Amino acid sequence: MNRTVLALNAGSSSLKFGVYDVGRAGEPHMAARGSVGIGLSAHIKAEAEKGKPLVDRALPDSSLEDVLEALLTWIETEFGGRRVTACGHRIVHGGTSFFDPVVLTPEQIDAIDALSPLSPLHQPRSVGPIRAIVKMRPRLRQIGCFDTAFHRTIRPPANRFALPRAYERKGIRRYGFHGLSYESIASRLQAVGKSDRRTIVAHLGNGASLCALRNGVSVDTTMGFSVLDGLVMGTRCGALDPGVLLYLLQHEGMAPRELQHLLYEKSGLLGISEMSADMRELEASADPKAREAFELFVFRATREIAALANTLGGLDCLVFTAGIGEHSDAVREAICRRLGWLGVAIDDDANLRHAPTISVPASTVEINIMPTDEESVIARHVLKAIGEI
Ligand code: ADP
Repeated sequence: MNRTVLALNAGSSSLKFGVYDVGRAGEPHMAARGSVGIGLSAHIKAEAEKGKPLVDRALPDSSLEDVLEALLTWIETEFGGRRVTACGHRIVHGGTSFFDPVVLTPEQIDAIDALSPLSPLHQPRSVGPIRAIVKMRPRLRQIGCFDTAFHRTIRPPANRFALPRAYERKGIRRYGFHGLSYESIASRLQAVGKSDRRTIVAHLGNGASLCALRNGVSVDTTMGFSVLDGLVMGTRCGALDPGVLLYLLQHEGMAPRELQHLLYEKSGLLGISEMSADMRELEASADPKAREAFELFVFRATREIAALANTLGGLDCLVFTAGIGEHSDAVREAICRRLGWLGVAIDDDANLRHAPTISVPASTVEINIMPTDEESVIARHVLKAIGEI
């Protein structure tokens, strides 16, 4: 029977998973990837590496536990009778004490849960599947992999707020997120011998951020204390003058919960377009507000790219990844056109084809599209954490 690792990736808009068989040398081989939904539209959907459909099953009105149970049962019976020996999780916030992937104990799960105030909407989504599996399969080893960990290399001044130091001692500092995605891209760059380039990775999905890589390690990023900072996102505001928050609290009579809802769920592309958080829908719409949302997204992305190029002292390589970065030629084109002054020159044909390299040879900045693969990063961490590799 195959020994198998399940990698769960609870993102801002979905719960993705990867199923990895463990090879002889303990290395992971992807057997399936897919997503699960919960609630009314609950489902399991999976495909094999080359896109061959494996399962697409509706499980109407199922809870998170029901769906995870159905997923584990599918892997262990219909999908070739595999034996799941460990399960890895993407955890959004590791705070100041979780960096390396860990085999989770009940105390650690509580400690990770206790970080929820730092990421009120996302941390519970990370912890939910862990607690569900503890209930269903108490003996299954679960490994936590932290999105903040990749940014531990960011040093002052880049990780510092200009607040009195006492707040920094309380953990109020810039952490950075999407670390597993950046780790995935950094290891690809290393595999092709391009780690030494000053690189900005643009992770543009529902959640969006940038990471500046020097010699393959993070030296700056656009998300800070929370996943609200930096770029305009699907429903999140990105960087905002803190005076706006004070004004809303003091003069608009807004309660903290309402403010949280506004900033996390009503802002960004959705707030500006008054129509959708989905870039595909905005691109397809003739409504001027949809165009304005697109333009603000691009404007703010280029402004932040320029800021990170400043941190790096120049730019050799720009990498697009995640849903929008990998699939929207219109966003990539608009961003690259604005960055012409920085030596970025896009090849229109290559961009339309979503080619791996989309810069013209004369561009001083190489522009790449790289699919991110957070699940594979999780699977590797799992196997390391349980001593297989
Ligand atoms: P998450 O942060 O939830 O993992 P994804 O990385 O899947 O999100 O990105 C979702 C975003 O990618 C959505 O805004 C979606 O519209 C956008 N997207 C996906 N495919 C395309 C496409 N072909 N053109 C434009 N945008 C796309």
